[in-house]
Amino acid sequence: MYEREYTTRRKRYRQLMIREGAGGLLVSNPADVRYLCGFTGSSAMALLLENAGYLVTDFRYKEQAALEVIGLRVIIRASGFGEVLSRLLKGRRGVKLAFDTESLSYAQVVDLRAALKGRARLTPLRSPLGLLRASKSRSELDTIKNAIRLAQKAFQEAVSVCGEGKRERDLALALDTAARRGGAEGRPFDTIVAGGPRGAMAHARPGGRRLRGFTVVDWGVVYKGYCTDMTRTLAFGKVDSRLRKAHGLVLEAQRRALEKIKPGARAREVDRAAREVIEEAGYGDFFGHGLGHGVGLEVHERPWISGESRDRLEEGMVFTLEPGIYLPGRGGVRVEDMVLVTLRGAELLTTLPRGLDPAEYLV
Ligand code: ZN
Ligand code: ZN
Repeated sequence: MYEREYTTRRKRYRQLMIREGAGGLLVSNPADVRYLCGFTGSSAMALLLENAGYLVTDFRYKEQAALEVIGLRVIIRASGFGEVLSRLLKGRRGVKLAFDTESLSYAQVVDLRAALKGRARLTPLRSPLGLLRASKSRSELDTIKNAIRLAQKAFQEAVSVCGEGKRERDLALALDTAARRGGAEGRPFDTIVAGGPRGAMAHARPGGRRLRGFTVVDWGVVYKGYCTDMTRTLAFGKVDSRLRKAHGLVLEAQRRALEKIKPGARAREVDRAAREVIEEAGYGDFFGHGLGHGVGLEVHERPWISGESRDRLEEGMVFTLEPGIYLPGRGGVRVEDMVLVTLRGAELLTTLPRGLDPAEYLV
């Protein structure tokens, strides 16, 4: 990532800090920390002040921080975060320090309050910090597109070597192996392969069941820090006609959602457009989760695409559309693609076919 990009990001974080009326901003979610300065360690806090910025971590990350951190002064702590922050804030009596309510635990806030007493007033951020990462830059989009290519290729390879008669866990393993071989650093969640009635569980784990009937495969890769999240439903052998119909509905729901996507649109209206298709067909009770979520350095991040979301779409946002229908005792269908918001509307980033027939995916 280019140094200029980090400068821009720091500027945007400081603008948010000023909007919040704060003199300091405490960044604690590892994905935010990485976004802000490039540090990939799992234990650190970044402190932004109007005219200074620090990355506080510990001995384990000393060398890594020296290599990775861009634009912030690295502090290796030998005592608690609170004590170190208190020292860094010396002389700034009563500065308002904004923190992210979604990533600090209550216990951490209590400890920090005690340590910073008289130095800083910790106040919760009103606007979610994660929104700053929601619109992706050109270089982030390049990385995400490469990650998607890798994930799709892994899926096609796995389906090619692991078909009907094999077990769910064989397919999951084949997928994971193909992804790692293709250059993935890891996976953002455990691969889901759920066939038959188990497909009705949205987050089932792959087991020893043979692949037959409707099978939901939900998988992701992490590549250069960026995640992917996609789902295909495959039909092995004899198939259930109600589920086949449900699959068609899910595809139609996705198409309607795509039409609603443009900068300025409300995320909840995108959810509504898809949900209406499923409700009108009488399957509303069987689609019990949100339509989608942002994907980036975290696999679930802003914007939220759901009925309760208050997020508005902006150019550059990347998120999933994953309508599903789950029929208890019968099985489930879900199709999940990744999309990008552009000035002209939605751009589908996933390029895999969407059909039920495994043959469509063979390489
Ligand atoms: Zn998924
Ligand atoms: Zn998802």
